[in-house]
Amino acid sequence: MFSSPVDVFVVGGGPAGLATAIAARHHGLSVVVADGAVPPIDKSCGEGLMPEGVEALRQLGVSLPADESFPFRGIRFVSDGVMAEAAFPRDPAYGIRRTHLHRLLLDRAAACGVHMLWHTAVAGIRPEGALVASTDEKETELVRARWVVGADGSFSRVRRWAELDRDNEAASQNKSLRFGFRRHYHVAPWSSFMELHWGRRCQVYVTPVSRGEVCVALISSDPKFRLRNDDALDEFPELRARLRGANLISSERGATTALRKLRSVYRGHAVLVGDASGGVDAITGEGLCLAFRQALLLGDCLASADLAHYQNAHRSLLRRPTLMSHLMLFMAKHSHLRRRTMQVFRSNPRSFKAMLALHVGEGSARHHVSNGIALGWKLLKA
Ligand SMILES: Cc1cc2nc3c(=O)[nH]c(=O)nc-3n(C[C@H](O)[C@H](O)[C@H](O)COP(=O)(O)OP(=O)(O)OC[C@H]3O[C@@H](n4cnc5c(N)ncnc54)[C@H](O)[C@@H]3O)c2cc1C
Repeated sequence: MFSSPVDVFVVGGGPAGLATAIAARHHGLSVVVADGAVPPIDKSCGEGLMPEGVEALRQLGVSLPADESFPFRGIRFVSDGVMAEAAFPRDPAYGIRRTHLHRLLLDRAAACGVHMLWHTAVAGIRPEGALVASTDEKETELVRARWVVGADGSFSRVRRWAELDRDNEAASQNKSLRFGFRRHYHVAPWSSFMELHWGRRCQVYVTPVSRGEVCVALISSDPKFRLRNDDALDEFPELRARLRGANLISSERGATTALRKLRSVYRGHAVLVGDASGGVDAITGEGLCLAFRQALLLGDCLASADLAHYQNAHRSLLRRPTLMSHLMLFMAKHSHLRRRTMQVFRSNPRSFKAMLALHVGEGSARHHVSNGIALGWKLLKA
């Protein structure tokens, strides 16, 4: 297939894989991406891109077209009839359909000279490269590569092949496994905020993705997939009223989400990025942002052949979203604490604003510690 070895072979052409391919090409490395699916690749997602994610995309040379995305200026929580909202400290976040985002990344990768193999599953990795399966998956061919990047999502096979999956890590992922479904409605966004509705059995978030569309994503811990978008809306009459009469413009699509931390994200010539490298619960809306920031970092580290640096910096990138993930899952589980938090956020909008600033990586550590203490005190008094 390729007469000489390539520098980087990327398994998975989703957001993390394409972003890594672009970042590696920026350093002049030769790159091949293989994905079993065919573009544009869709996925169940809340489709919100946090401000740091938008900035990372800009660094990758991808800008969001005004007619295919929608800016939102903050987050609104709605729980038990109480509403609290806060704006991002500086730049807005954006909503964008996954298929549009995929096409933008794909166009950029093609313009950078990335070689892409679609409908091409990867069947294994070897010290010399990766084994690519033929379309009927009866034969495999070795593509020789210096580095193999696993960007193959949360159930990564590259992670398993490279023995980066440990039993205790897999068990902790299973414990935190949750289930998400998304649908799109043809309706003008009614708010310049992304809304997160907290319910008894699930959370539903609404992201404006264009001038005429919103994405509604449901996340629950129901392992039997019994709770779907229609039933979930019973818990949120105001939201149901907003969506009444709006045409559904996509079918329901599901995926799992989990909080997963790996001890190591590389071994030998194999290295992981995006959901394959661990991740946070979807409720944080941070998965894409993390994937793009990790991709930029990995591009630098592949060019300097310093994966130990990637490992350390990857760990620091995950720290804040992991903390937010724990906090939000705690709120999801403990309705009493959630009610108190909502009261505090409503009566002290600055505390919500401070939490959102932490979420999007703004402000100093000292500032966040003093805000955290103040919030804790207000919660005790509430
Ligand atoms: C319900 C839900 C809501 C979410 N909401 C948000 C949100 O609002 N904002 C946000 O930032 N994030 C959100 N996320 C998280 C986000 O979707 C993920 O973090 C993101 O998709 C990770 O991208 P990825 O490229 O790492 O993996 P994926 O998108 O899973 O891509 C992996 C790719 O690898 C390919 N692949 C797998 N195995 C092979 C193989 N053997 N050979 C070849 N190809 C292979 C697959 O076909 C796929 O294209 C949400 C997730 C869920 C489940």
